[in-house]
Amino acid sequence: MPASHTPAGDPDVVTTTGETVLEGTVLRGREFDPVEGRVVVEDGEIVALEEDPVESDGIVLPAFVNAHTHSGDSIAKEAGGGLSLEALVAPPDGLKHRLLRAADGDELVAGMVRSLRYMERSGTGAFLEFREGGVEGVERLRRALDGLSLDATVYGRGDSEVLDVADGYGASGANDTDFTEERAAARAANKPFAIHAGEVNASDIDPALALDPNLLVHMVHADENHLRRVADAGIPVAVCPRSNLVTDVGLPPVEDLLEHTTVALGTDNVFLNAPSMFREMEFTAKLYDVSATEVLAMATHAGADAAGLNCGVVEPGRDARLLVLDGDSDNLTGAQEVVRAVVRRAGTSDVERVVLA
Ligand SMILES: [Zn+2]
Repeated sequence: MPASHTPAGDPDVVTTTGETVLEGTVLRGREFDPVEGRVVVEDGEIVALEEDPVESDGIVLPAFVNAHTHSGDSIAKEAGGGLSLEALVAPPDGLKHRLLRAADGDELVAGMVRSLRYMERSGTGAFLEFREGGVEGVERLRRALDGLSLDATVYGRGDSEVLDVADGYGASGANDTDFTEERAAARAANKPFAIHAGEVNASDIDPALALDPNLLVHMVHADENHLRRVADAGIPVAVCPRSNLVTDVGLPPVEDLLEHTTVALGTDNVFLNAPSMFREMEFTAKLYDVSATEVLAMATHAGADAAGLNCGVVEPGRDARLLVLDGDSDNLTGAQEVVRAVVRRAGTSDVERVVLA
């Protein structure tokens, strides 16, 4: 066992100062070509990738970018089993919203801290959060993030004034209300506008597209015409297959979406699913006819591209948000195809180190 081995379940989550070197099989570039060597990090940036024989069982890859979360409901894990999507999450009186109203602010923040810490330890380096509760909701998330190194892109909800504190606007769905004003406010603030669409049925997809969004979420019920419009406008889509399974709304047409645009993976509501990108990748790889390389792209640089982040790829010039897995763990040892093993088999217990810039 190499000296650097960290006990299973206790990964090292670090930010770097000065120079740090990560060794092993490096999944290089946007195609994740496995090369033996070292990644040199200086002051939070990847400055070199040196191909060389090295004595390490590590697998070095980009930390994950979770493209869609709602972490505010961390206090209500597994609540409402078997309820419909509407009974669970429809504003204002879905179960989730009643539970959130009943909880006090400190309790909500404490719940988020635990989920965010789990995300870090399971290899996530950045996430795109849809945040309920207006300005106060955004501020609570920022409090929860204090002391952690995750990069959060926060899409706030409610009045347009939420844009003063959020990184963008995250609309529930075009059937819920008219978002024309919020869309215009986001544009005026030079911030992205994201929206759920096509989760339960197709009726809110065209109205969502009419808002010229920067990011669409779900698109379970997208048809050929919607896909063409998405391709023409170059709008990335975040898909959440496990969430869609739990709420029984169908599954997103991932293969078709991939032919038309950038498709990123998200874990959606924490109360419905653990925010583990390993689990989302495994489900996606086994449910769909897509390659392991495509799934890993969906879990890393697709989300980074959707939010304009400089991470999700191991190459010089990128932010050093990186993940090191133990390729000689009981789970991964003997794997013949490294990318396939990372996507379909690896889990949190294989995480040795998470470097968050
Ligand atoms: Zn959502």
